[in-house]
Amino acid sequence: MERGHYVIVVGGAVAGAEAAFQLARRGIRVAVLEQNALPYGKIEYGLPKWHVKLRNKEEAAIDAKLQHPLVRYVPKVRLGRDVRLPELLQWGVSAVILANGAWRDRPFPIPEADAYVGRGFYYQNAFMYWFNLMHDPDSGVDPCEVADGAIIVGGGLASIDVAKALMMLTVEEALRKRGITTHVLEMERGIDRLLQRHGLSLSELGVRGCTLYYRRRAQDMPLTPMPTDTPERLARAQAVRLKVLQTAQRRYLFNVQELHMPVDILAEGGRMVGLVFCRTRLEGERVVPVEGSHYEVRAPVVISSIGSVPEPLPDVPMQGETYAFSDPELCRVAGYENVFAVGNAVTGRGNIQESLRHSREVVERIVERYLGWDAQLYELLNRQQESRVAEEVSRIAEHLTGRPLLEEEQIRAIEEQLDRLCLQVGYDGAYSHWIQRHLPKRLEELLQLELSEEEEEAE
Ligand SMILES: Cc1cc2nc3c(=O)[nH]c(=O)nc-3n(C[C@H](O)[C@H](O)[C@H](O)COP(=O)(O)OP(=O)(O)OC[C@H]3O[C@@H](n4cnc5c(N)ncnc54)[C@H](O)[C@@H]3O)c2cc1C
Repeated sequence: MERGHYVIVVGGAVAGAEAAFQLARRGIRVAVLEQNALPYGKIEYGLPKWHVKLRNKEEAAIDAKLQHPLVRYVPKVRLGRDVRLPELLQWGVSAVILANGAWRDRPFPIPEADAYVGRGFYYQNAFMYWFNLMHDPDSGVDPCEVADGAIIVGGGLASIDVAKALMMLTVEEALRKRGITTHVLEMERGIDRLLQRHGLSLSELGVRGCTLYYRRRAQDMPLTPMPTDTPERLARAQAVRLKVLQTAQRRYLFNVQELHMPVDILAEGGRMVGLVFCRTRLEGERVVPVEGSHYEVRAPVVISSIGSVPEPLPDVPMQGETYAFSDPELCRVAGYENVFAVGNAVTGRGNIQESLRHSREVVERIVERYLGWDAQLYELLNRQQESRVAEEVSRIAEHLTGRPLLEEEQIRAIEEQLDRLCLQVGYDGAYSHWIQRHLPKRLEELLQLELSEEEEEAE
């Protein structure tokens, strides 16, 4: 074993795998600590399950990076619970890179709402997690309620996913009552098309649809990674955002109320039963409530989809919603010489207009497409994420060149600590085998199974 650096990356998904790979290709040893059995993060639990091809492609890319000979995967180890940051540093590692994403839903603006989580009120991350696993009776995931006429408070791409998921589940149920079976993967091709094929409309099905409430105008929704730094670019981005939203509404039949914000909750019998909204207007960038415009909207389910922020971690200082950085250029965590953050774990970061500028044409081309535009947008976001992580890691690697190399025995001591963690969770280092063992049942596989059973019955 040669002298060298040893870096711990926390989180194994798009950002963590890219960071590990970028370090490994520079000859640096890396261990990736991941809280879950699977390393895929938002790709597995946030990207809706209808993006089968994209999910498989992104997960294969993560697998390839984590299987680099200099990368060691360490599953089911959560920083802050199973191991603490000062402990990692005591092992003598060269650096720790936080790539732990953004898994905490931004708190709903009416704090009383939190008392009703699971009783008429849900946050988006838990809802999508459930949605992605709900078809598997063995998943053990906490159930969420779905009912027609739900409210979503939000505005970004993820809130459109929630609206689509709610529409799919309510339409599926309404069709089932009429003896028509369908599934999410079929409805992804367009609920409008499906209903057309059956000669039905949403109202004939008795479905009102869910409604997405957004506090700004529809054209302000952060739906596309495009630059907005000149009036012309802003106008272009706004036109594209409107097109994205209208395409989604046309295909999935959900409602949108722009210029609305929640100001109170409605609760009865220990459940949330709706929200009080007020209308808003914009004064420049500012959202201003319109006086006297309050009204009640009753709904069986309310979902908050107003963004995700990094989870607070013990030993990691926060500044507002994000980690505190002493050196924003390096994303160096305040109070530490050699702890950094990359990926979604860094939010609210400075000017990324330059990388966005290149994506303008790509986004416009994507949005011209009739179907599959959202998968391509996600793919683009992931590629942007990777190139930002690659840039960040190259700065971190440069910083490491000024630090002493670890001696052979120091590296061996770190490996021993990692062996101990792996032993505790029963991971023997056989990556592919481990992944296969822990992958959840896929909806498409279950459907295949049902289809073949049906075929057998028909024979
Ligand atoms: C619904 C949705 C909306 C999106 N919206 C945007 C957007 O608006 N803008 C944009 O740029 N990109 C967006 N993306 C793209 C996407 O979020 C990123 O490109 C990328 O997938 C995030 O990668 P990440 O590795 O930073 O985070 P994640 O995929 O969240 O991965 C973090 C990993 O760290 C692990 N982890 C967390 N905490 C710990 C801990 N304490 N110890 C150990 N492991 C831990 C997690 O389990 C997870 O595997 C969106 C994606 C989805 C699915």
